[in-house]
Amino acid sequence: MKFKVLAESFDRVEKVSKRLEMTDFLAELFEKSNADEIARVIYLCQGQLAPPYKDVEIGMGENYAEEAIAKAAGYTKAEVEKEFKKRGDLGLVAEEFLKKKKQQSLFSAELTVEKVFKNLMKIATTEGSGSQQLKIKLLAELLNSASPVEARYLIRIPLGSLRLGIGDPTIMDAFAINLLAEAQKDKELVKTVEKKLKGKKSGEKNAEKKLNEKRKKKRTEELDKKLRLAVREKIEDKYNVHSDLGDLAETLKRNGIKGLEKIKIEPGIPLRPTLAERLPTAEEIIKKLGKCAVEAKYDGFRLAIHKNETKVTIFSRRQEDVTEMFPEIVKAVKDIKANEAIFEGEALAFNEETQEYCPFQITIQRKRKYDIDKMAKEFPLTLFSFDLLYANGKNLMGLPFKKRRERLGKIIGKNKTIILTDAIVTDSAKELEEYFDKSVGKGLEGIIAKDLNAKYIAGARKFSWIKLKRSYKGELGDTIDTVIVGFFKGKGKRTQFGLGGLLTAVYDKKSDSFKSIAKIGTGMSEEMLENLCKILSKIKSEKKPARVESEIKPDIWVEPKYVIEVNADEITKSPIHTAGKAKGKEGLALRFPRMIKLRQDKKPEQATTVKEIEQMFKKQRHVSTGA
Ligand code: AMP
Repeated sequence: MKFKVLAESFDRVEKVSKRLEMTDFLAELFEKSNADEIARVIYLCQGQLAPPYKDVEIGMGENYAEEAIAKAAGYTKAEVEKEFKKRGDLGLVAEEFLKKKKQQSLFSAELTVEKVFKNLMKIATTEGSGSQQLKIKLLAELLNSASPVEARYLIRIPLGSLRLGIGDPTIMDAFAINLLAEAQKDKELVKTVEKKLKGKKSGEKNAEKKLNEKRKKKRTEELDKKLRLAVREKIEDKYNVHSDLGDLAETLKRNGIKGLEKIKIEPGIPLRPTLAERLPTAEEIIKKLGKCAVEAKYDGFRLAIHKNETKVTIFSRRQEDVTEMFPEIVKAVKDIKANEAIFEGEALAFNEETQEYCPFQITIQRKRKYDIDKMAKEFPLTLFSFDLLYANGKNLMGLPFKKRRERLGKIIGKNKTIILTDAIVTDSAKELEEYFDKSVGKGLEGIIAKDLNAKYIAGARKFSWIKLKRSYKGELGDTIDTVIVGFFKGKGKRTQFGLGGLLTAVYDKKSDSFKSIAKIGTGMSEEMLENLCKILSKIKSEKKPARVESEIKPDIWVEPKYVIEVNADEITKSPIHTAGKAKGKEGLALRFPRMIKLRQDKKPEQATTVKEIEQMFKKQRHVSTGA
């Protein structure tokens, strides 16, 4: 594929304000890609060269990019720099300079996606002396053959500022659009979907004939929509156990929907974690689950440990490879009694002698790239393991939780660094409550109750886990994770920080968009304000990002990237916020929201969802009427 096709698609995507339009453009682009190049196209759409877990960062500094632009366009670096200061976007600067290019290159050939990818990969992997000059040369070489629009993206990708806001769900929606024709030919799938559709089946010819044209058309449309959804679900099921969209896309191109069957859980490729629901009281948890396991809820890092013979890989909750950060855990994993395994746990600093759990502020210091060994000695982590998904060639996700835990215990054996989470099994609300108090007394966050018979549900929240956290009087029973979508400049004393408040949103899974829920101006220290202003200024957006739905206009929009944990007094109805808003239905807002901390372990799509907010709102009313 010519890189021009990709750049022009990016340009179109950048201009749309609706997600559905974006999805259609992407579907068109994917249709044009062949099986050999589709994975690259997918990664580039998200400004990457590989899935996040492979940790390939292009990481080029602005300085070098300026030099490459100057070289390719025949200007001085100072001239490029001056323009950058004025415009603040080096991609646009490159576009402008290429329009007024002084020299025509002698050997310029039209760029292909393959060539661009190859050079960017070299830029990402070149190290050592002379590497800087080589990186500049590789980028300038691409710019030499680029049109102005191509140049815009050739610069933004290595700078990490592509920011088209293309989320994973939107990519999967686009795949499903392209697979409709295949789905229509799949008799079994059509039959299953038709069964679900209300009304007469198409097999009943006489009845069908009686339908007038309009109704027939509507029915076909409905069937197509349901077929697309069914395909989409199949794709997501696989994505949940194999978090690599490029790989999935290639499989779909080569072997169609059936190809998905071959995709299996394997050590080394991250899965999407199961999530916890919430209920406000011990009674409600027991009513919902009956006899259940109740585990202490630790406040650390959720880690997925993958062992493949001697190779150990550790993934964060965002599916990033964080193996290097936790050498003591890697070492301990080598001793577990399985050659191959995938298991999960929460790692936190724990003082074995005093049996004290360290606060999150201490544990978070272990998330670093330097001084790892020194910090590992100072604050060694303990991994409190809670689930086993795979062992010695077998996928265990389908087993009931109690069986998985049993096997987990056997595999861990006697290990100092890796231990099982503390747990009880009970069907008594009183006992659950006592265990909760005991856990909180030890400085833990609360408990997680688990359905003893549930399968492991990757990537979803289905009441197989229910959390109960320390609840503060007059506040919600749980904190909420919101996504920053904009900020206000601030008045008075706050003008000095350049930031006075945040516009935040929750995630709507159904539409893959972010809907506003609160303006937040309290809870931030001066240091936090400064830091927020710094990181948000890097992701400013001139217009409302396509996946954001908000009627409130902040001073500055930002790409949905950062998640913050927020506390609030309650959830109230709101005419101005869009979370939960529908025709004839008001939206929901947080009352007296205050920021607790930045949650760097969560991606925007892992923030609290609109559905959860609606459930919390219902529960809250239920509780207050009860009182
Ligand atoms: P939350 O982040 O508040 O939705 O709570 C769910 C998180 O609690 C999980 O993603 C884990 O990181 C963490 N956690 C702590 N202890 C446990 C446990 N015993 N079982 C499962 N998850 C736990």
